[in-house]
Amino acid sequence: TFRAVVVDKGEQGYGCGFRDFDEADLMDGDVTVRVTHSTVNYKDGLAITGKAPVVRRFPMIPGIDFAGVVESSSHPDWKAGDEVVLDGWGTGETHLGAYAQKARVKGDWLIPRPAGLSPAECMAIGTAGYTAALAVIALEKHGLTPDKGPAVVTGAAGGVGSVAIALLSKLGWRVIASTGRPEEADYLKGLGAAEIIDRNELSAPGKPLAKERWAAGVDSVGSTTLANLLAQTRYNGAIAACGLAGGMDLPSSVAPFILRGVALLGVDSVMAAKERRLEAWSRLDRDLDRAKLASLTTTIPFDKVIETGKAILDGTVRGRVVVEIG
Ligand code: NAP
Repeated sequence: TFRAVVVDKGEQGYGCGFRDFDEADLMDGDVTVRVTHSTVNYKDGLAITGKAPVVRRFPMIPGIDFAGVVESSSHPDWKAGDEVVLDGWGTGETHLGAYAQKARVKGDWLIPRPAGLSPAECMAIGTAGYTAALAVIALEKHGLTPDKGPAVVTGAAGGVGSVAIALLSKLGWRVIASTGRPEEADYLKGLGAAEIIDRNELSAPGKPLAKERWAAGVDSVGSTTLANLLAQTRYNGAIAACGLAGGMDLPSSVAPFILRGVALLGVDSVMAAKERRLEAWSRLDRDLDRAKLASLTTTIPFDKVIETGKAILDGTVRGRVVVEIG
């Protein structure tokens, strides 16, 4: 057996706690990994608390991403001792996940640990940071460059937001950071934000088109915030939509699309193809300032993962959290 966080649904409702888990109860997969590090993403908070139905199988070990070492493999790409990283693919949702000392997964889901990033740094980036990289790449593929105007980042002090600011500023963008935590202004400036705005400015319903303020954006919030982002995007600009921390709806109009040629770029990290993952991770290895990564990272022991999962939904977690498991 090994130690794991397990969520289950029974007569007493939805529960989450530490348990000894039998290796024989792991699900099918061709690679067994000794998990050394994981992290706490917004979705992990949802799985831990049951606040949204992200868990599709019970019992479930939550945790959507990990770094670890291959223990055994029948997959041609992997052998014992290889260092690997996994993000998404349903781990922690439909497949037993990362909050355990062991995981059995499909070898096709794994990527090698990027050479320039330690296992702990990989999880400091985690799914949130890799999603931020996918968003930045989507904006670039749309043809956007820093000379076109500023980039706005919402949910700025959160995980996706913090990594997006660090990446965009390194790439030369003037970054406008939207946050509900003005007390984090120094933190956000340290990551590279040039300007901080109050998220309340963007959360109230606004006009279908408003003054053009930015050429690009990375949005973790959704709902009226995303609608206002679109309404304030410059001609031919684009917003990469990653999240729903403010709500799943999108009370927008077609005005920004048909009158300003604005584009809404969807970003999904869970089922992204392997080439896109490798591209995102190599960009993170190349473009993410390691001192900034350290400044946005908090490290916690395995014991604290459940309480941190609750805290992330309250919006009180800053940046990214590494969970030491191994
Ligand atoms: P996080 O660390 O909790 O960051 C979310 C941030 O959003 C918070 O720190 C807060 O930033 C802001 N926020 C929270 N509640 C809000 C509200 N009610 N209204 C406005 N702003 C609010 O979470 P994360 O791990 O970075 O994930 C961010 C979002 O992206 C989540 O919705 C997550 O599900 C999604 N996501 C999607 C993908 C994908 O594949 N598309 C991958 C990863 C994450 P401030 O305090 O600075 O305002």
